[in-house]
Amino acid sequence: MQPVFRFAPSPNGYLHLGHAYSALLNQRLARESGGRLLLRIEDIDTVRCRPELIDSALEDLRWLGLDWEEPVMRQSAHFGRYRAVLDDMQTRQLVYPCFCSRKDIAAAIEARGAGWPRDPDGAPHYPGTCRAISKEERARRIATGEPYALRLHVFGALATFANAPLAWDEEGVGQVPADLNAWGDVVLGRKETPTSYHLSVVLDDALQGVAHVVRGKDLYAATSIHRLLQQVLGLPSPVYRHHDLILDEDGQKLAKSKASTPIRQLRSEGISAAQIRKRLGFS
Ligand code: GLU
Repeated sequence: MQPVFRFAPSPNGYLHLGHAYSALLNQRLARESGGRLLLRIEDIDTVRCRPELIDSALEDLRWLGLDWEEPVMRQSAHFGRYRAVLDDMQTRQLVYPCFCSRKDIAAAIEARGAGWPRDPDGAPHYPGTCRAISKEERARRIATGEPYALRLHVFGALATFANAPLAWDEEGVGQVPADLNAWGDVVLGRKETPTSYHLSVVLDDALQGVAHVVRGKDLYAATSIHRLLQQVLGLPSPVYRHHDLILDEDGQKLAKSKASTPIRQLRSEGISAAQIRKRLGFS
């Protein structure tokens, strides 16, 4: 069996050098192991992932010399499949509808005082308000068309495997214990967007037979929630390799939200693909 690698960008901005590094590293590891390289476009945010950003990502990657298998999976074409999994999770009471607005959540947390837990991204854990509402009230509020999110019922999920510890295999490190309480009841879907990064990444890695997930250290903490989802959904857990992030000259992490230089800008400034590959340590 050929090992399967993937590069899975979310094109909600132009690709930058951090993406280039991740893509080229996946390509190198796939080549060295006689494996396959897939490209998956994680465009579930249909507002921010505009078609021209997707075209531009494909063009930048081709220009850099990335060579992937066709067809390219685009997650936006799979909302029905994600929805079916969420429906099943709802039947199993692993997710529940949450009607809280941001304001409601902020007020509930304020009332609980300082020291309320936060997730690895710094957001406060969901205070659980809608976990406790009755079946009848849920049905009534859904029937009135009130918007809602579907949240993972972490305690319910943990109970399905009797709170046994879970770990993932981190290449070069070994078994890393998943921190199952790190995230709280995260949103796994919304009425209008029936998935989330956490849910679709786990489902698609399994569907595409990805055995090696190579991605940046910024997603290290998210692996705990991914491991939990794999467990409750009966999915295999790939080997992970979280690589260092590429730093800007001033030592800042390159991120789309910062004004990191897009690959296409470097291109238009006359920098060649070979120069970029060299700067990133690929010849
Ligand atoms: N789509 C995610 C991103 O661009 C990465 C997904 C992953 O590698 O797990 O941030």
